[in-house]
Amino acid sequence: MSKAEKIVAIKGMNDILPADAPLWELFENTAESVLKSYGYQKIVTPIVEETGLFARAIGAVTDIVEKEMYSFTDSMNGDQLTLRPEGTAGVVRAVIEHNLAYDGPKRLWYKGPMFRHERPQRGRYRQFFQFGAEAIGFSGPDIDAELIMLCRRLWDDLGLDNIRLELNSIGNADERQRHRADLIAYFEANIDVLDAEAKRRLHANPLRILDTKNPAMQDLVNQAPQLLAYLGEESLAHFEGLKKILDANNVQYTVNPRLVRGLDYYNRTVFEWVTDLLGAQGTVCAGGRYDPLIETFGGKPTPGIGFAMGIERLIELMKAQGEPSQPAQCDVYLVHQGMDAQMKAFILGERIRDAGLDVVLHCATPAGAGSFKSQMKKADGSGAAFAVIIGEDEVKNGVVAVKALREGEAGGQQSSVPFDDAVDFIVDQIVGGHDHDHDHDHVHYHP
Ligand code: ATP
Ligand code: MG
Repeated sequence: MSKAEKIVAIKGMNDILPADAPLWELFENTAESVLKSYGYQKIVTPIVEETGLFARAIGAVTDIVEKEMYSFTDSMNGDQLTLRPEGTAGVVRAVIEHNLAYDGPKRLWYKGPMFRHERPQRGRYRQFFQFGAEAIGFSGPDIDAELIMLCRRLWDDLGLDNIRLELNSIGNADERQRHRADLIAYFEANIDVLDAEAKRRLHANPLRILDTKNPAMQDLVNQAPQLLAYLGEESLAHFEGLKKILDANNVQYTVNPRLVRGLDYYNRTVFEWVTDLLGAQGTVCAGGRYDPLIETFGGKPTPGIGFAMGIERLIELMKAQGEPSQPAQCDVYLVHQGMDAQMKAFILGERIRDAGLDVVLHCATPAGAGSFKSQMKKADGSGAAFAVIIGEDEVKNGVVAVKALREGEAGGQQSSVPFDDAVDFIVDQIVGGHDHDHDHDHVHYHP
């Protein structure tokens, strides 16, 4: 590489820049408080796991394991490792390894980056972030309903409408086996309509053919035998139980018989939250039950269900639905002139932060502090409620000038306040005089 050549990020892996950070923060804070309000606890697992974990947990004939995993050999010891493409496998591994479900069921949530080697496009990246929940040890439809209603609450709290719920049941392994035989026979009878990918999946994972986005195959898959018709009594009772709770709580949904998860260990409930506002990548959250998985991993038979949402897609949706107001960088911007004033500004800055407010101290290096006028411009641009001004006169007189920068009662007013009273004065103005949320994070989003 020549010296002047610019280094850029890896294709499909994005920086989240300060302009977007407030929306991300808003999303994460809201999601965490919703999960907490349902009793879910945080779990953090490593970003790298043994390749075998994902191969087993996700299933060999899936897009992820067939072609999307970032796998590599650890050059230090030859271990086969993979950057996690999703969160469930690691959580389930941790639950078994630490025997987390020994004293009863667990409600867990996680967040973090996932890695898949996909073709980058809108809503589809090679590093992307997911927020997910896993409820381990609950077998009834009540927890399925809870997870769905938790999502609905999150959309409501974020002011997101235009997300609809699609629901299906894929029964158990026996029911799928019977359906599978009929499905393969049906596709074989229509082999000329199948595209290359469908032909490849015909015997390995025919259920996934139902997922196809190929327009030429839509009629075919719409007429295909529906798994719902193969469900036995227990699976049906579970599905009916779920729908009953959703109906009683006014959750709208459509049953989509083509909604599947093509993995052996998925069973019964599957659901997706979908929007039409994001083009082709419209699924913002996908979930499903995986009762057989933990036993497959050598744990005690323990049912499970979870969902994962794609944060980038939800941030896109938040943007599509309304411009967030420009967030303030701080509450107070400290303007100063001269060496002594700068020293005072440092002391005052620490005191204001002690009082719980956010402060930006104008930095004098390398260009010099700049004129009062240019500093006041910066103060205005920061979105701060107040500028505190310390010049040579203020130092001499033991005071500071406090100027209200925002509209409202005190807008534009400037007061001279003794140095030692400045913190109380500002706190009073912000907490008392203004409609200011003291436990704030500067994020105001108007859908
Ligand atoms: P798709 O059919 O779109 O590839 P998927 O079945 O691979 O989706 P899941 O594994 O269920 O998706 O992941 C859950 C959610 O994570 C998706 O609904 C989506 O919101 C998000 N997601 C999945 N892959 C990506 C990606 N490459 N980039 C951004 N978000 C993603
Ligand atoms: Mg995918």
